[in-house]
Amino acid sequence: MQIINPATEEVIQEVAEDTPETIQEKYQFLKEGQKQWAAVPLVQRISAIEKFYALLDERKDELAETLTKEVGKPVQQSYNEINGARKRIEYFIKNSAKWLAEEWITEEDATREKIVYEPLGIIANISAWNYPYLVGVNVFIPALIGGNGVLYKPSEYSTLTGLHIQRLLYLSGIPENVFSIVIGKGAAGQALLDLPLDGYFFTGSYRTGKYIAEQTAGKLVPVQLELGGKDPLYVMDDVEDVKAVAEAALEGAVYNTGQSCCAVERIYVQEKIYDAFVDTFVTEAKKLITGNPLNRETSIGPVSRKEQLPFLKEQVEDARTRGGKILSGGNSLPGKGYFFEPTVVVDANHSMKLMTEESFGPVIGIQKVKDDNEAVELMKDTPYGLTAAVYSKSLERAEKVMKQMDTGTVYWNCCDRVSAALPWSGRKNSGLGATLSYHGIRAFVQPKAYHLRG
Ligand code: NDP
Repeated sequence: MQIINPATEEVIQEVAEDTPETIQEKYQFLKEGQKQWAAVPLVQRISAIEKFYALLDERKDELAETLTKEVGKPVQQSYNEINGARKRIEYFIKNSAKWLAEEWITEEDATREKIVYEPLGIIANISAWNYPYLVGVNVFIPALIGGNGVLYKPSEYSTLTGLHIQRLLYLSGIPENVFSIVIGKGAAGQALLDLPLDGYFFTGSYRTGKYIAEQTAGKLVPVQLELGGKDPLYVMDDVEDVKAVAEAALEGAVYNTGQSCCAVERIYVQEKIYDAFVDTFVTEAKKLITGNPLNRETSIGPVSRKEQLPFLKEQVEDARTRGGKILSGGNSLPGKGYFFEPTVVVDANHSMKLMTEESFGPVIGIQKVKDDNEAVELMKDTPYGLTAAVYSKSLERAEKVMKQMDTGTVYWNCCDRVSAALPWSGRKNSGLGATLSYHGIRAFVQPKAYHLRG
């Protein structure tokens, strides 16, 4: 399999793909190892993760460079991602013992009762490429701490990062028969679905997620899906600093070149402040530096996959034919690399694909609304349910909107953020189950009820 740099279209490296046979061998190898790992005391398992946490910092220059070369992420954002992953790991290090400890429920009656949390067994961690560290650590860190074996399939677009992760976990003391990378494309993922694993933890598109849920349904094991979104951001007319809100909304839309599951994907602005908002938004969008992601000042890199360029162009053209005005960008850049200009479409409406289908690129539509009711109707008009953001001076007014959102996350005066202490979950086509927080620690264990008499 060739690993291609999306900024230069050069082949960085070739790697050997796993076959169904090698994946089966890895599974057999993990079957023994997992049982021994589950018997290792929790403090020792956590101590291996502490070493991994330290190594991520020690090796961050090399890791950030690989990440940028492989997925095109602006290098400052690669450092941010590694730091962000460390913060999540820190949360798991500090909180796992509390949530995995046995719980005495009834201690004084003739029959004493307690709950013990046991690992699931061997789980599949099938991951997306856009934040390979963040979406990876959401799964493999609590899974390993919980005593599971992990078959980790990074996306084909972030394979080299996956190999770094494996190497650093081994250096940290995670045994080779407890964690194993599976290298390949969709077929390698399919081979994981064909194995009798004890859980499937997937991050990726709705289409693949639904397929995985259907394929694994008969196994009766936990299946968690972290899928895409079409996340709305609504700006009320009482915001005090329209310029600051426009800047925050732009960052939420184009960070990671717009390739975030919780990126701001559509914006609604109340009519009184619409013109002022659009003015700043477009002015700031035009200042964004698109180019070589290895330069520290670059804010927009290439999109990671070539197929995304005609897809984004099609969304922009569809918006144009339905009355949208393109005030910035609109095209891919000529020459080598998969670059698309940061694109702002105003006078957007819901007949446009740009406002209804996940874009996953540096393009955004802005629509004018009369009042909160119209905004709520439009925000809810989606099959997705990941996040929704409201900007307003008044929490009370914002809360009325947030309560009506059928999403796993709501934001007031912020957007496009994830906290390790809160559950990360999507509703409707955005997913099933939660990672992070104590929910994301308990997701990798199963309760056993003890009834003790005598
Ligand atoms: P895909 O669904 O294309 O791929 C996700 C993973 O599934 C990859 O490792 C892929 O392998 C693998 N895969 C593909 N086909 C199969 C199959 N038949 N069986 C098993 N595994 C398979 O998603 P992307 O990687 O393109 O990620 C982008 C999507 O992920 C966006 O929709 C984004 O919103 C969402 N996402 C959601 C997050 C959340 O927390 N809710 C976080 C990050 C992203 P390969 O790539 O090698 O083909």
